[in-house]
Amino acid sequence: MIKIKKVLTNNYISKTKIPDADYVINPYIGCPHKCIYCYAEFMKKFTNHTETWGDFLDVKICPQLLNVKKLIGKRVVIGTVTDAYNKYEEKYRITRKILESLLYVNSEISILTKSNLVTRDVDLFKKMTKVEITFSMNTLDDNFRKDTEPFASSISERIEALKILVKNGIKTSIFLSPMFSPE
Ligand code: SF4
Repeated sequence: MIKIKKVLTNNYISKTKIPDADYVINPYIGCPHKCIYCYAEFMKKFTNHTETWGDFLDVKICPQLLNVKKLIGKRVVIGTVTDAYNKYEEKYRITRKILESLLYVNSEISILTKSNLVTRDVDLFKKMTKVEITFSMNTLDDNFRKDTEPFASSISERIEALKILVKNGIKTSIFLSPMFSPE
């Protein structure tokens, strides 16, 4: 069973060295999708978690307003070490609150996800200056997906979500990663 706790933060925004990005925003620590290849497990070291990756989720609560001034003209990626649309976002709505602060801010927002919950926020995306939703997808075989990304949305759910976003005029893309070899 997943252990969920709320943790206070004074800032959601972090500077990054990721190529083509200036800042990252991760509304949660941990990720319940529990992908077997997850690269983000190193976050345990920085946050004193001893649980198995995927068995805990810290919901980041920031009482201050987001300092969006520094994001003007910058590229911001949401969801680099968590999925900002993991299923607990439905209850906590942290990602939605962050996006509400980013409305009309002239920055380039990129959201990475494996969850169809992202379609909940279409109304916000439509008001944003520049936003792109990227779905990670590396197979069309949902049995393989279940083995590797057990708690993420199914492939057909992701494709349906993509269609909804496209119909609403939202820029979308697919990140083909990670690639597995048949051997
Ligand atoms: S969605 Fe991303 S952060 Fe979450 S478990 Fe999968 S690879 Fe890790």
